[in-house]
Amino acid sequence: MLVDTHCHLDPQYFPEPLGPDDALARARAAGVGGFVVIGVGTDLAPARAAVALAKRIPDRASAAVGVHPHDATVLTDEMLAELSALARHPQVAAVGEMGLDYHYMSSPMEAQKEAFRRQIALARRVGKPIVVHTRAAPGDTLDILAEEGAREVGGVIHCFSEDKPFASRALDLGFDLSFSGIVTFKSAASVHEVAAWAPGDRILIETDSPYLAPIPLRGRTCEPAYLVHTAKRVAALRGESVEELTRQTAENTRRRFGLGAS
Ligand SMILES: [Zn+2]
Ligand SMILES: [Zn+2]
Repeated sequence: MLVDTHCHLDPQYFPEPLGPDDALARARAAGVGGFVVIGVGTDLAPARAAVALAKRIPDRASAAVGVHPHDATVLTDEMLAELSALARHPQVAAVGEMGLDYHYMSSPMEAQKEAFRRQIALARRVGKPIVVHTRAAPGDTLDILAEEGAREVGGVIHCFSEDKPFASRALDLGFDLSFSGIVTFKSAASVHEVAAWAPGDRILIETDSPYLAPIPLRGRTCEPAYLVHTAKRVAALRGESVEELTRQTAENTRRRFGLGAS
């Protein structure tokens, strides 16, 4: 079974009363059997929803909880304390997504850096890996990971969209590389190069659902079932069978997040 190591399944994307169950059933039918459910937002409601979902299907899902760089300004001391308590939950596999996004710059740069640093420290306190979101901020992202001792817990660069020099430094810092639907886009030459080159024991795959649907489904609302297209593309770039890539990424997910391969 494939494991989607980064999906957003909040009620805002998969409304109640059905919730994400239909999407999860379609994923299972497509061969996607595990999920790291990301809970981020302007408050901790999505984080709590992610933990609740992971508790409901503990053999298939884990949660990651954090504050996205878009929302960096909401991270107060009080929220950090609550996040810390939530992050200790046994069904929480990682802290994040956190990081820097200078493309949208939805929060001021300094607030983003501060929230990133504080969450790395939190991840080290609770002893869990980090899910990093980085866009148009490669130097600062790597510098902060290094300065804050993120190597102690390691983690994953989610939705990898940088180049080979960045990938080398991230790997050295203890971060695996997770490929999303971007790897199926024709224009993503540097991502293709990294997907073909990266060590087999350091790669993961994800949908980032509901965003970034892969080709040939680009433009639709993405859901975990679409992971099969990303898996096919990464396997082709590496000259491997989809079966081999499935086995390897499931094992990597289990090692990194304690979820997946059986
Ligand atoms: Zn992200
Ligand atoms: Zn995300």
